[in-house]
Amino acid sequence: MATELSKSGTVVVLLGPPGVGKGTQAVRLVDERSAVHVSTGDLLRAARREGTDLGRLAQGYMDRGELVPDRVILDLVKVHLSMIDHEVDVIFDGFPRTTDQAIGLDSVLQTVGRAIGIVVLFEAPDDTLLKRLSGRRSCPDCGSVYNTFFSPPSVEGSCDRCGGKLVQRADDVDETVSRRLQVYQEQTAPVIAFYQDHMASIARITADRDVEDVYVDFCDAVEVVFREVS
Ligand SMILES: [Zn+2]
Repeated sequence: MATELSKSGTVVVLLGPPGVGKGTQAVRLVDERSAVHVSTGDLLRAARREGTDLGRLAQGYMDRGELVPDRVILDLVKVHLSMIDHEVDVIFDGFPRTTDQAIGLDSVLQTVGRAIGIVVLFEAPDDTLLKRLSGRRSCPDCGSVYNTFFSPPSVEGSCDRCGGKLVQRADDVDETVSRRLQVYQEQTAPVIAFYQDHMASIARITADRDVEDVYVDFCDAVEVVFREVS
């Protein structure tokens, strides 16, 4: 059968705490490989926008301030994967978040004839993550982003580019950041353990460094699995 002869694209799973910078790394790799970038946040937003049944179901949970259940997320992933060409590489960014999602993802991938090629774990010390997140300020007028610790504006609270008043996202306030990091540790540590038990390749990358250096290591890590399939 043709589908069996055609090689499936590689599936890469990127894990790491909020603020570790994996999204930035993902976007670069996606551009370079013409891969598809899948984050559950994007999937949820798209499903809501398109008003699909799944999207409305997910919206209901969010409106009630509840977490969207794993099975709904997995259904969204399944529908999305079925629309991506078999040969195209897929980069999962910050998904799976829980062990149940990881187990579910494996079976979803099986149904579409794919498998995870590599799991890449980005790591950085908590105090760096705290500063990266709680120091983040953005300009609502021009979209410029600053960090009060690492790249502050010349005048506090004011955008260098347009003079707009800088704002902090509610998500990035100190207590919320600590809580987000704690939730990550509680939920995702078991996911990492799951992959360590079930996967041959899991790469750990220290992300507490220059973005370029991190990207070099990231490319080295994924190069191995891309070479195997091409
Ligand atoms: Zn601005």
